[in-house]
Amino acid sequence: MADKHTFLPWVGGREAPGHGDPIPVEDPATGRIFAECQSASPSDVEAAIQLAHQTFKSGVWSRASRHVRADVLDKAAELLSHELPRLIDLEVRQTGRAIREMRAQVPSLLRWFRYYAGVLRTEERPVLPTVGKLHNWLERVPLGVVVQITPFNHPLLIAVKKLAPALAAGNSVVLKPSELTPITSLLLGPIFKSAGLPDGVLGVLPGLGSTTGRALVSHRLVRKVDVTGGTAAGRSIGSIVGGNLARYTAELGGKAPLVVFDTANLEAAVNGIAFGSFIASGQTCVASTRIIAHQSLLPELEQMLAEKCESITRHMGSPSNAESSMGPLISSRQLQTVEALVDAAVVGGAARLVCGGQRMTGLAALDSTDLSKGYFYPPTVIASASEHSVTTTRLWREEAFGPVIVLVGFDTEATAIELANDSEFGLGAGIWTQDLSQAFRVSEQIDSGIVWVNTHHRNDPSSPWGGATSASGVGSENGLDAYHAYTTTKSVIINYASTEESLAADDWFRQGAGDVRYG
Ligand code: NAD
Repeated sequence: MADKHTFLPWVGGREAPGHGDPIPVEDPATGRIFAECQSASPSDVEAAIQLAHQTFKSGVWSRASRHVRADVLDKAAELLSHELPRLIDLEVRQTGRAIREMRAQVPSLLRWFRYYAGVLRTEERPVLPTVGKLHNWLERVPLGVVVQITPFNHPLLIAVKKLAPALAAGNSVVLKPSELTPITSLLLGPIFKSAGLPDGVLGVLPGLGSTTGRALVSHRLVRKVDVTGGTAAGRSIGSIVGGNLARYTAELGGKAPLVVFDTANLEAAVNGIAFGSFIASGQTCVASTRIIAHQSLLPELEQMLAEKCESITRHMGSPSNAESSMGPLISSRQLQTVEALVDAAVVGGAARLVCGGQRMTGLAALDSTDLSKGYFYPPTVIASASEHSVTTTRLWREEAFGPVIVLVGFDTEATAIELANDSEFGLGAGIWTQDLSQAFRVSEQIDSGIVWVNTHHRNDPSSPWGGATSASGVGSENGLDAYHAYTTTKSVIINYASTEESLAADDWFRQGAGDVRYG
């Protein structure tokens, strides 16, 4: 194809050939391969890690002053802002996400670079209350080479969430984007180079998880791995990283509950559910896939959700159309997973289809896009066939990673909490209530790393993002914690006693039976 662009790995401050199998990049809205990416072979990985290690040891970045590092992050934010139109277009093309989502999300990434630049400029070093004439302060030093592995659904957002604290701390980073959406992460390389990041500090190596990813996370020189992906990948990577005694952060799957109490404003709750469930076509880790609503609300809520879904479906079309409401799923494989989970729930008799539930084909009413060519699936609502019966389905337990929600009723607050916690995942949760005491009470009892009240899926560089249960991951992104997790502490203790005082008090092996000091 004449316009098919080939993208190369980024190593040592320049594009470098990749010797692994080429990766075709598909537009999920059309099924067309619009670009190709060279992938990194195990020997490319070896070379990139060695370079990152040497660069780290040289101190050119790892020992650069905090102000220098902060300036580079700020400059990267400025340069990224100039590249937004191109990045947004490519992000839409490779993910299939509607352009209005990407126009909202991608410009927000600047805040992550600026936040961590701010952390570097304002961080203070504690002096500890050590006994005696000792001055003990705490340094934070970078870890060394760190590997970051990212998923397909928010390629740039997740790369930036990980890169900003890791680079701020002074590490050398090798990033592996998803094989489904590798392009935009590669473009961060030249942006950082122009911002003044020394060559060799950042490498971006596209490739499959089973080859490139595995070689990266297994490398003995890697001091930390930070992955966002599915729970299976997280477990498998974690066992390798543990064997190397390296640090590990994993942001994994979710099956977020969203509880609607009878005091909630129903219209606001429906808007919140639609946003929480259908943004990115439901392909988010915090997608509100389990809607738990007070029995008295169910008939009206079901009808309002069906109307909302119908309106979203009517406005589905080309993701690059500014009026498009929701894009396709990422791949035919993902489409099959969603279809299988929905069909099993409905055919099994535990669930009743309220709306959606069938792959979209034919021409879009919005703009005549041929939906049959892409992986379009409409917003879908599934209710219980009888009380709570839907909770016996795989759809209740497993991530569908599609625009599919399950609706169940409850009578008491205790049942609502029990249903919300009926999951191995514990990442995000939503509560809709106008009762402040209830908001506090229930948020305390829900087992999840993030609880939103009267809102959903809010994300800020300062606000921790991570799972509370092992299936949802280990550690968190954002905030000071993420920065600290990219450092190790160095405790420096200086004896400022005079020589005379030291000679008088500090001869541990002096003769006689007198007391000796401890500490
Ligand atoms: P995935 O697990 O298929 O892949 C994620 C990344 O891991 C990819 O880059 C892949 O190549 C790599 N990978 C897979 N197996 C590997 C291995 N054995 N060794 C090294 N690398 C490996 O996930 P996906 O389909 O791209 O993304 C969807 C998943 O990500 C969902 O489960 C979703 O919940 C999760 N997710 C979590 C968060 C969060 O913040 N918790 C955010 C976004 C997505």
